[in-house]
Amino acid sequence: MVATPIGHLSDITLRALDVLAKVDFIACEDTRHTSILLNHYHIKNKLISYYEYNKQKQTPKLINLLKAGKSIALVSDAGTPGISDPGYYLIREAIKEKIAIFSIPGPSAVIAALVISGLASASFVFEGFLPKREGRKRKKLAELKDEKRTIVFYESPYRLLRTLCLIYELFGDRQIVVVRELTKKFETVLRGRISAIINEIHNQSIKGEIVIVLQGVNEL
Ligand code: SAM
Repeated sequence: MVATPIGHLSDITLRALDVLAKVDFIACEDTRHTSILLNHYHIKNKLISYYEYNKQKQTPKLINLLKAGKSIALVSDAGTPGISDPGYYLIREAIKEKIAIFSIPGPSAVIAALVISGLASASFVFEGFLPKREGRKRKKLAELKDEKRTIVFYESPYRLLRTLCLIYELFGDRQIVVVRELTKKFETVLRGRISAIINEIHNQSIKGEIVIVLQGVNEL
């Protein structure tokens, strides 16, 4: 499990580069995307496509290669594979087959956002992506209403405003931090009460990758 940058190409460890150069194959979500990283570091290796919609078909193929003694690095489009991406599925199957797995740690958007949020970070809850459908999203958020710890979500820019309005409706006017485009050129951090952030963004078209960090009940 090899962590790769969440934006800035320099955010990769020496060990990750070494492993990516030495393994027999690299399994990745988007071969074009991973090629940009590999080309930047002059690494040539064989890529195998592994993403949400082919994970069931590809997993037996990857497991067979591993059982035949080949080594595979799994990377995701950004950050640490296995965090809100199909990495978990392959790892679970590999464990069933008693295949050794190693973590090559590095960036993950959840940690990068949490530590600059200024909200309590000694303990926190990571919820990944909220359900897309309104009813399910509302239900999930309602379950988190009394959560004591800081809560971190991944969210699409297209759903951000609606999600903030729902959080405001269900949680009240808590402190929230919206982190956008971490480590990239247009990195921005919005901190404040939910109502203020809704006011700030309601007539903007928000683009890019987003993490929401929400104050828990303990900090109110
Ligand atoms: N495995 C990744 C990780 O370790 O963070 C997450 C994969 S998930 C499919 C992609 C989501 O992560 C994006 O929709 C966004 O919420 C968040 N994300 C990834 N890169 C980001 C960045 N540079 N800035 C803000 N959020 C980011």
